[in-house]
Amino acid sequence: MTQSSEVNTGAATNEEAAAEEIRWQDVLTPEEFAVLRQGGTERPFTGEYNEETAMGMYQCRACGADLFPSDTKFASHCGWPSFYAPLAEDRVRYIRDSSLGMERVEVRCANCDSHMGHVFAGEGYDTPTDQRYCINSISLKLNPAAAQGGPVDAED
Ligand SMILES: [Zn+2]
Repeated sequence: MTQSSEVNTGAATNEEAAAEEIRWQDVLTPEEFAVLRQGGTERPFTGEYNEETAMGMYQCRACGADLFPSDTKFASHCGWPSFYAPLAEDRVRYIRDSSLGMERVEVRCANCDSHMGHVFAGEGYDTPTDQRYCINSISLKLNPAAAQGGPVDAED
């Protein structure tokens, strides 16, 4: 019996996407995978960076891209690490999220498309942007070495 390999109309991209997710399952813990690749949310006040005040660069836990400088982190007391701005607007991408009966804006890593959290605006926080990037600790990795030199310019 000969195997046909010509049935390939448009299925390739789905297969590639599926293969990509399997690869992420190998490199991420189940907890990381559930948030980063499946859009989950860690429980509030449980994340390792919720109250973190150390200086550094918060990077994408999945791909290591620089996303949020620690100087944009502020104490929102919402239960998750909160930032008023990303390192640069092209570091993240935004997706309208209508799940859970709310209109929210999802924030993803622009480099690897992993889920970070959501961004909220106009809540009255005393920050330069009045925005709150509400990000899961488990989506982030703090790199203290990147702190030196103060505000970091994108250097690509
Ligand atoms: Zn990433």
